[in-house]
Amino acid sequence: MLHVPLLPVSSSYWVRSKFPAFCTSMAEEDSITITKKRKARGRRDEGAVAVPDIEDAVMDDRGCFSVEAAHAVRDSLLRWYDKNKRDLPWRRRRIHNDDVDDDDDDRAYAVWVSEVMLQQTRVATVVDYYHRWMERWPTLLSLSQASLEEVNEMWAGLGYYRRARYLFEGAKSIIEGGEFPSTVSDLRKVRGIGDYTAGAIASIAFNKVVPVVDGNVIRVIARLKAISANPKESATLKKFWSLAGELVDPCRPGDFNQALMELGAVLCTPTSPGCSSCPVSNQCHALSLSRDKNGDCEVTDYPTKVAKAKQRHDFAAVCVVQIVEQSDLEAWKANKKKCVFLLVKRPEQGLLAGLWEFPSVLLNGKKTDQMTRRRMMDRYLKKTFNLDCKGVYGVVSREDVGEYVHVFSHIRLQMHVELLVLSPQGSEGGEMVLLDEKGHYAIEWKCVDDESIQSMGLTSGVRKVYKMVHDFQRGLHQYSRKPTKKKTKKLNSWTGPMLPCPSKGSGNIYVI
Ligand code: SF4
Repeated sequence: MLHVPLLPVSSSYWVRSKFPAFCTSMAEEDSITITKKRKARGRRDEGAVAVPDIEDAVMDDRGCFSVEAAHAVRDSLLRWYDKNKRDLPWRRRRIHNDDVDDDDDDRAYAVWVSEVMLQQTRVATVVDYYHRWMERWPTLLSLSQASLEEVNEMWAGLGYYRRARYLFEGAKSIIEGGEFPSTVSDLRKVRGIGDYTAGAIASIAFNKVVPVVDGNVIRVIARLKAISANPKESATLKKFWSLAGELVDPCRPGDFNQALMELGAVLCTPTSPGCSSCPVSNQCHALSLSRDKNGDCEVTDYPTKVAKAKQRHDFAAVCVVQIVEQSDLEAWKANKKKCVFLLVKRPEQGLLAGLWEFPSVLLNGKKTDQMTRRRMMDRYLKKTFNLDCKGVYGVVSREDVGEYVHVFSHIRLQMHVELLVLSPQGSEGGEMVLLDEKGHYAIEWKCVDDESIQSMGLTSGVRKVYKMVHDFQRGLHQYSRKPTKKKTKKLNSWTGPMLPCPSKGSGNIYVI
């Protein structure tokens, strides 16, 4: 663990004293990058008049921020932040029911929740979620006593559900540990807390003089120092952490870190930075270069744009299984009776772990025709629910609803959605259990009605599929079409064992 002095040693001194070799290598790298750039531009600008270089003012001879530059950035940025910071709920100390303000631990919890929600999500979206979350679980203790199901429900629509699970598991582990960790190294031991979140909690809630580095900070620092190295490379990322450490204010580290991020979020934006009203424009090397080079270089050239990793294309067959009691069939057809939907729980590991969805089958990364999809889905339903689609009667209809593409950060999932309406007679043998080789329940399922679906914490993908089916049944969906007679005949020849229980309920599927 690195000891971080509180006062009055400047953070740049701290970084340099702790990482002397690193500072040197940074300086070398910087000078290589900048020299290459200058040579290239020199060739383009032969004959141009030499201009004074801002580097001398911003950097010392090792490529770090000079002491004066760091002071200037801190002063200007904090003054700007005090006047212009957005009034965001997680920046306010809360008053609890007993009229007592947040203590440091409450503050740490609030910062933690907001920082996790803000990852990959816009501030405007997060505000509502944050209010609802804090109303439901105002303290770490209350969150630790919730269930994962409730947490996922609250998170529904925010995406990247692993964040919610880690937040929940982290809360439980901190409560078991007895106290909220206050240093970066202790915070890093909590599952789901990475360097950025640890730095944010330690500096904002516990006033530790430590930096944070997120996309906004990278952009601002890359421009302040005109760094053209690839920010995705680990050596470059280390460099940004080190530079952020040089800048962080020893008296107001939390405010400074928020100010730096705020600048990146509202002024030093990716495509249209507001340099004319920027509080640190005098220390901005990229701005100076852009002025000197008369349009040959833009501040938006920094940081270097990195080509995004190619998205994987996946295909899935999704079968929305609607179950109608035999005795309700006529009423259901007349739209007077509701049915229930079958939902299954995803595995506890991997993408969307532990979340509920309609029965789905991945199609081996290939686009497939309807017959192949149905064959694969039939196999899945047989294996999972002991439903023999080739022999069981009770199929009211089976129709293709349409396609829906859901984009995750690295996967483009194209879903072929079909609607299978079943009206099984009785429930032979009651519940069945599907066990894996070790004798554990292999899958969890439940049947839910429309109202429950709407209030459940379902992913936006599942909600979209539900809406497609809903529209399809009301005749609104563009892919709507009636099944041919031939198909209906074939489908109605389905005979065999029934789904365990067509009424609303939940449980595990039993293998017989
Ligand atoms: S001067 Fe412009 S490019 Fe430089 S930090 Fe400010 S907003 Fe960003």
